[in-house]
Amino acid sequence: MVNKNLKETVKNAKYFLLDMDGTLYIGDKLIGDMDKTLATLRQCGKKIIYLTNNSSKSKQRYEEKLQKIGLFDPRDTVYTSGIATAEYLNSSFKGKSVYLMGTDALKKEFEEIGVNLVEDKTPDVCVLAYDTELTYDKLCRFVTYLKRGAYYIATHPDVNCPHPEVFIPDAGAFIKLIEASTGMLPAEIIGKPFDGMGKNLMRALGLGKDKFIMVGDRLHTDIAFGNNCGFASVLVLSGESDLDDIGKIEGKPDFVLNSLNDIIDYL
Ligand SMILES: [Mg+2]
Repeated sequence: MVNKNLKETVKNAKYFLLDMDGTLYIGDKLIGDMDKTLATLRQCGKKIIYLTNNSSKSKQRYEEKLQKIGLFDPRDTVYTSGIATAEYLNSSFKGKSVYLMGTDALKKEFEEIGVNLVEDKTPDVCVLAYDTELTYDKLCRFVTYLKRGAYYIATHPDVNCPHPEVFIPDAGAFIKLIEASTGMLPAEIIGKPFDGMGKNLMRALGLGKDKFIMVGDRLHTDIAFGNNCGFASVLVLSGESDLDDIGKIEGKPDFVLNSLNDIIDYL
């Protein structure tokens, strides 16, 4: 694979957007000396943002997990599709009322960011998140509010969430459930592979596309996201994809590395 421009791309970039599972670790096991690799990136003045579509857990829970396995540094940031959705609501639906089908942890984050959450009155916007505390009452409220005309946003499209024994239903499966009942689909989806998280980051940091590099192990989410945002994309072969997958599915990476540890050669 030709990586001749990677050195220049890395030199010019400021932010490394990192997928986590399959890119930094698998389960709880680091991929090679990933702790040292991230430390070297920081020493070279690069900023690290961990990106996840999982909107069921809080930023703090992810920080604790990353800390436990020796990766997190206070200079780093965790960015979830849930937080990205709350920020998007604040910038594009300022002051509008929102019904959130999500966990208590996500509700707390929405409130901290300043989203006007409501429960018992018809909202302007309905947000579907990965609600691991989903109840029938929440589902009924959600479809009722949609049918009354609320604008429909989903945090991310993943149908399943990896789990030790079998894959378990994620937000994308809830989207299908709502569609089966109402015939309605989200007007917008924020998480990867869509560009919402990237647009938020560029706006918040006041930086152009060339200052970001997206690194991940999935072509159809991580790499497609990088491409949709116009960021340089690096596929790592430490997780789900191998070289044969490139070209078969959506998402052609700009660069390919065996693992993120190989980035050291380009710093
Ligand atoms: Mg991954």
